[in-house]
Amino acid sequence: MNALVWTGARAMELRHQPVPTPAAGEVLIEVGSVGICGSELSGYLGHNSLRKPPLIMGHEAAGTVVMVNEGAFADNSPARTGVRVAFNPLVSCGSCDRCSLGLENICRTRKVIGAHRAGAFARFVTVPATLCSILPDTLSFTAGSLIEPLACSLRAVNMTQANPDKTLLIIGAGPIGLFCLAAARAAGFKRIAISDISESRLETARRWGASDAINAAKEDVAVTAHSIRAGGVDTVIDAVGMHLTREQAVKAVIPGGRVVYIGLHEEASPLAANYLIRQEISVIGTFGYTKADFASALTLLEQKEVQPTSDWLDERPLSAGRESFEELINGTSKFAKIILHPN
Ligand SMILES: [Zn+2]
Ligand SMILES: [Zn+2]
Repeated sequence: MNALVWTGARAMELRHQPVPTPAAGEVLIEVGSVGICGSELSGYLGHNSLRKPPLIMGHEAAGTVVMVNEGAFADNSPARTGVRVAFNPLVSCGSCDRCSLGLENICRTRKVIGAHRAGAFARFVTVPATLCSILPDTLSFTAGSLIEPLACSLRAVNMTQANPDKTLLIIGAGPIGLFCLAAARAAGFKRIAISDISESRLETARRWGASDAINAAKEDVAVTAHSIRAGGVDTVIDAVGMHLTREQAVKAVIPGGRVVYIGLHEEASPLAANYLIRQEISVIGTFGYTKADFASALTLLEQKEVQPTSDWLDERPLSAGRESFEELINGTSKFAKIILHPN
């Protein structure tokens, strides 16, 4: 099969590899669509500690089950040969103290398909059967590949713990920022500001219902946030994860407000700790999603809260993988999201 293999910092090649064999309890999926995630861009650059070369990345995917290992039938999973599925790439143990609380995303032995083991930038991928969800006929494989990033975003919005009548600022209008916007709209938020340095991304955000689109290349994000709500916005999601944006988030929020960090761009950042203390600002991280979040994201896609249209999303063959990574990193892509088709 063809597989897009990441071989080291800024190096990726299409290789011919053997088709993987599903282990006990696993299925083999023929990949229909697989999205390029922001975390994979930093992985591709060699900045992400989870990913070690050589690696087939790809964790946002949907496809058709083509082989079921016998062990999978015992697991009461919906995955059967010929069934269209999307899979949850977070492999959790199901028995640790975190899993017992329904927090599979922070399982003590969490593994990610496409980071700790081979992912879906290939014609075939193996996954545990229990992680598969049936894709309704109304959803294309490409829509199915959006469940995963939408689930991350949905969780980030829930982690703000804000009522929808509160003001929300989202920093970054990339796929996660846009999906946070969609999830917040679906949750009933009316005043949602979003910032980015790309005018075309801000244009997409306006179409998706942002009430305020802040061009961070021209405006001071924190100052504008204070003009939206005197004293600062109620809650902020940083969907970028740079020193600059983490700092903007803290400055933009009202005393007593809450900042949610989801962007993973830079490994460590200085923190204005005394300011956080004196203003009683809560700063929390969010990672991935629970099984419940994944199911809710699938529902949001069925309800067409997010639609894979060509004004913000581009679909390409797997062979265009390397150039697509470069394009997204260089910021030259006019698309917020690029989806690859291995077949
Ligand atoms: Zn992702
Ligand atoms: Zn666990």
